[in-house]
Parts: sequence; C-alpha cells; structure tokens
Amino acid sequence: MALRSPSSPVVPKNPNQLFGKILIANRGEIALRIQRACRELNIKTVVVHSEADREAKYVRLADESVCIGPPASAQSYLNVPAIIAAAEVTDAQAIHPGYGFLSENADFAEKVERSGFVFIGPRADTIRLMGDKVSAKVAMIKAGVPCVPGSEGALPDDPKEVVKVARTVGYPVIIKASAGGGGRGMRVVHTEAALVSAVALTRAEAQAAFGNPTVYMEKFLGNPRHIEIQVLADEHKNAVYLFERDCSMQRRHQKIIEEAPAPGMSQRALVRIGERCADACRKIGYRGAGTFEFLFQEDEFFFIEMNTRVQVEHPVTEMITGIDIVQEQIRVAAGQKLRFRQRDIVSRGHAIECRINAEDPYTFVPSPGRITSYHAPGGPGIRVDSHVYHNYFVPPYYDSMIGKVIAYGDSRDQAIARMRIALSEMVVEGIRTNIPLHQELLLDEKFIRGGTSIHYLEEKLAKRKLAG
Ligand code: ADP
Repeated sequence: MALRSPSSPVVPKNPNQLFGKILIANRGEIALRIQRACRELNIKTVVVHSEADREAKYVRLADESVCIGPPASAQSYLNVPAIIAAAEVTDAQAIHPGYGFLSENADFAEKVERSGFVFIGPRADTIRLMGDKVSAKVAMIKAGVPCVPGSEGALPDDPKEVVKVARTVGYPVIIKASAGGGGRGMRVVHTEAALVSAVALTRAEAQAAFGNPTVYMEKFLGNPRHIEIQVLADEHKNAVYLFERDCSMQRRHQKIIEEAPAPGMSQRALVRIGERCADACRKIGYRGAGTFEFLFQEDEFFFIEMNTRVQVEHPVTEMITGIDIVQEQIRVAAGQKLRFRQRDIVSRGHAIECRINAEDPYTFVPSPGRITSYHAPGGPGIRVDSHVYHNYFVPPYYDSMIGKVIAYGDSRDQAIARMRIALSEMVVEGIRTNIPLHQELLLDEKFIRGGTSIHYLEEKLAKRKLAG
C-alpha cells in the first residue's frame, strides 16, 4: 500500500527535528506546498490520495503515499477512518489538513488527537467555536472585535420575531447559515414582503447542505471591500498579526485575485484592527495560523468570520513579510514558541495572487481534462504554486483551481506589471483556464487604481454580458 518514492532528497540530520513524519491530508497545489515546507524542515511526508490522483507527480515526490479511496471526496479526502489508518500504518506523527476538505472539521481534529497524532491547526474546541458563525460572532464581540450589525445570535423560529429583528437591523439584510462556508448558504433580502420565505428557504438549504438549519441575520453592506488579517499564535499565549490582504475581487463570493497590502488604507486603522485580532487570539487561546475576515466600508471594519486554517491566498503575505506560514504552522503545532514578536515583523513591497482555474473564462463552466502543453512563467518576483505539468490530467471531481501565480514588486504597479508579463508567458493548453479574465482585470482602470468593492467583478461581468 505504501509507495516509497525513489526521489527522496538526501538531507543532513537535524538535531532540532520537529516531527519525524507528517501526513498531508489534502491534494493539489496545497499538498505540494505543505510537502515543500516539510522538506525544508527535514520532515518526511506521507501523501494520502484518491484513485484519481494516483499518478500526480507530487504524490510520487512524497516519501510515502497511501491510496485512501475512490475519486469521490466523500470516500477519500473526507474519509476520516482511512486517513487515520494511513497515519497509523506509515508511523506519521502529525497530520496537516491544508484548506477545504477536513481542515475546519472539529470532529476530525479531535479524532486525530485522540488517535495519538498532532493536528496541525487549532484545538478542536477552537475550530468548533469559530466554525459556527453565530458562536464566532458572539466570541468576537466579547473579545472587542467589531462585527456587522445584525441579529444577536441565531434567528428565532417565530416569523413575527424575525420581522422585528429585520426592522431593527434595517433593509437590505443578508440571511446567513451559521454552519455555512465557501460562499454558500446566504441570501440577501431587500423587502419585508420577501423576508419570511427567504429565511425559510435559507434554513432548508442550510439543513440540506450543512446538516444544521441555524441561520442569523446581518445588515447587508452595499459596497464593502473584503479585507482580512492573517494571524499566527502559539500555545504559550503569544500571537501576532501578519498584516492584511485585500480579497475584494470575487465572483459568487469566491476570491479570484488577492493582494497585500490592501491599497489605499490608513495604516493606523490597520494597526488597530491587527492588534485587536492578535488580542482576540490570546483571549480565545488560539493556536496556529488563522485569518480574521472583515468587510470594510466607510472606514469601518466589520468581522464576518474566521478561517482556522491556512488559506489559498497565504503566499501574498509570505511575499511581503518573508515568513513561511506553513512552516510556522508546523513549528507551533510541535509546541514551539513563535520565533518573532510583533515589532520584528515588517511588511515590504507588494504582492498579488491570481488563482488559475480550469474553467471557461466567459461562462465559468469547469474545464477538466488533459493539459497537452504547459509552460510556467518565471523571472524576478514571480512565484508559481501549482501541482500541474505537461500531460497532467485535471480530474473532474474536485475544485477547479489548478494553481496560483504570485507576483511581487517593490510597488503595487511593479507587481501588476510583473503579473501581466507572467500571465503572458504562461501556457496551459488542452483545457480552458481563466487566464484571459485575469489579463483583462490587470488592464482594468479601476483595478489598477485599487480599492474596488466586492461587487466590482460581478458588475463588470454583467456589463460584459449585456454588451456581448
Ligand atoms: P463564507 O464562509 O461562505 O465564505 P462569509 O461570511 O465569509 O461566508 O461571506 C462570504 C462573502 O459574502 C463575503 O466575502 C462577502 O462578499 C459576502 N458577504 C457576507 N456577509 C455580508 C454582508 N453582511 N454584507 C455584504 N456582503 C456580505
């Protein structure tokens, strides 16, 4: 079952070994990213994979690999007993969940630790607290983090009470599933007439999608930016923030371009919110890497949720701070103290990330299949985090993201210029990708100016549709 790779690097023995072996419970670019961090730390890796990912090069690059089931995620990447069994047979000491899949599943984190392995992430009770958006908001209000005005906790069952809450909050409102994620389980309501049925529908959807019908209400902000704060905390009550990212370029609540720093923002306001986040980490006993997501409108930050894992967009923060977030996750999970204090962390230059998806750039229909020709960009300031290569087959079963291109420059203008060059060099043939959409956005006047809202891309796409 366990396949040993012939290409394990020869590395010197490290007396400060963190873990002997880490199991990576994920796939694609993040599995490769974690593997690279482990190799640099002289830690052996086990990659678990589905039958669909058996031939992937990053699977072969791992010290060991274990097939945990058929292509469907439910039977492989979400198959908890199979993953724990793989850790047992390979003698791994810790499990890195990456993002998505089981990364924010508190029951999984608990099972991992009960089975005698270290979960590379926060404690299960923290994941549970922050994974339920209602309890997360309550905790954040208590910790002094500003939140979007809305219902105090979950919405009551009585429709009359719901109407009352909405009148206090003021229309438009957004109904959100407490257990929601990935941009799903949300509904905007503009009028009282539509309210009760919208709440019922969102409840039913939440029950079907997340097995939990709890919903809550927030004021729907008309024109916000999405600004998030990256944090790192250890179990010795030390916590720091690694500045902010602007992830406002979204389609259907899914980010497609992210950057750091956020253009045109007041440094003082950012320091204040960053300190609040680090403080909240200390208050809730947070451990590991995490992200506080905010909507930012009229110079105010409103907390919407916390992600208790590494995020897709973590490289832009790594580029401006020089801190390897995945390695720090591993160090903290091994019980080490953070190696830096807030004053040691400096932000330099500007970084932008474009998520490359296997999808039609105009219809957004997924485009899995074989990559018949591939050329990755390079040059000063360019980083490509991707597991794909010439002749790689993009399986149809998973998320359509096939990689990320990150451009770093001394200034935002230089980062944009480098990204334009990088995307013009990049070749991905045999499947369709969203590279043309990125190229269009990198020439967009408002994007170039910086500071567009979370609705900007959807509005632009709607105009394009009308024109077409
Ligand atoms: P998820 O966990 O599904 O990602 P979030 O709560 O983070 O859900 O919200 C995702 C996106 O939905 C936000 O980035 C924003 O675009 C939009 N959104 C969420 N809450 C609000 C709100 N109160 N007003 C306006 N837009 C919102």
